[in-house]
Amino acid sequence: MTHDNTPIASAGTGLVDLFARPISYLRLSLTDRCNLRCRYCVTEEESDGCLTKLAHDELLSYEELLRVARVAVGMGIAKVRLTGGEPLVRRNVMQFIRDLTRIEGLDDVRITTNGVLLERYGRELYEAGVTKVNISLDSFKPERVAAITGVDCFDQVWRGVETALALGFSPVKLNMVAMRHVNDDELADFALLSRRLSVQVRFIEFMPIGESSRWNADTYIGTDEIMARIAALGELIPLEKGRSDGPAKVYRLGADAVGTLGFISPISHHFCSRCNRLRLTSSGGLRSCLLHDHEIDLRPVLRDGSGDEALRQALLAAIRNKPEGHHLDERLRRSGSDCHGRMSRIGG
Ligand code: SAM
Repeated sequence: MTHDNTPIASAGTGLVDLFARPISYLRLSLTDRCNLRCRYCVTEEESDGCLTKLAHDELLSYEELLRVARVAVGMGIAKVRLTGGEPLVRRNVMQFIRDLTRIEGLDDVRITTNGVLLERYGRELYEAGVTKVNISLDSFKPERVAAITGVDCFDQVWRGVETALALGFSPVKLNMVAMRHVNDDELADFALLSRRLSVQVRFIEFMPIGESSRWNADTYIGTDEIMARIAALGELIPLEKGRSDGPAKVYRLGADAVGTLGFISPISHHFCSRCNRLRLTSSGGLRSCLLHDHEIDLRPVLRDGSGDEALRQALLAAIRNKPEGHHLDERLRRSGSDCHGRMSRIGG
C-alpha cells in the first residue's frame, strides 16, 4: 500500500485508513470528572483528593460534541461509545444523550460506566436508545472495591448491574482489569458468574497508561495466564465473534452457561490490525490510538467559525495518522510506555 495523502473516505463504503482498516467507531469522553478514584486510572496525588479537572472552557460543550458526532456519522461512523471520566456525572447528560441518539444514521450508541449511577439513570438511558452497557467492576469484595476505587461503592455498582439486567440491556458487559496481587484471586469468581448471569465478563489486561501509571510488570497478567487459570474450572468453548464483541475473544464456560467470557489482550495479542476506532478526549483531542499520544485538537476548528468541511478534514487527518500498531510490548521491554495521556480524559 502506498502511504501518500490519499485515504480514506470512499463514498458508499465508509472510512478506511491507510492500512485498509474500516474506521466506524468513535469513543466520546464526555468529561474528565469521575465519582471514583480508581488506582490504575488516576495519579497517586489524585487518589488522595481531587482529580485535576479541566477548566470549563477546555471541555467540549454538548453542542460541540453533537456537531463532531453528526459530522463523523455523515462520514461513516456507525457506532459511538460514551465514556469519561464517568459519563453519567456530567450535568444534563441525559438530554445530551437523547440529542445524540436522534442523529440520523446513528443507531448504535453505547456507554461505559462505573455503574454507580446506573440504578438512577438506567431507565432513561434505555428509553433514549442506549441499551448496551459496559460496567467496570474489578472485585466482588466490597472492601476491595473501596480500596481500588477509593469509594465504598460495591453495593451501588451491583444494584446498577441488576438494574441493567432487569431493564433488558443487552449485552451487559462487566469489565474487570486483572491485576496480580490485587484481584487475581477472584478470576474464578468472575468467570463462574457468567455461568448463571446473562452477562459477558471481560478480562482486560492492565495497560501502562498515564503520567504516573502504577502499572508494573509484576501486576500485569497476560490473557494466556488468565485463560489457563479459568480453563481449570471447566471447558472453555470458543464462540463466533458477535457484532458487539469488539476486540474480545469470546468463550462460554461450559455449554450450559447463561453468559459468556471475553478476553481482551491489548498487550499480549494486540488487535491493532482490526482496530476500527477513533477517540475524542474530553478536551477535544482527536486520538487515533489509545496508546500513542498524538492528538489533533478539535477545539480551534470547532471555535474559530470554520464550517463542517474543516471538521471533516480534521477527522480525515486523524485517520491518516492512525498508526499501524502500538508495539507496546516491545516498547515496554525497551523503555516504558509512550502513552502519557490521562485515562480519565481519554476514556479507555
Ligand atoms: N468511568 C467509566 C468506567 O469506569 O467504566 C468510564 C471510563 S474508564 C477510564 C473506562 C475503562 O477503562 C474502565 O473499564 C477501566 O477499568 C478501564 N481502565 C482504566 N485504566 C486502565 C488501565 N490502566 N488498563 C486497563 N484498563 C483500564
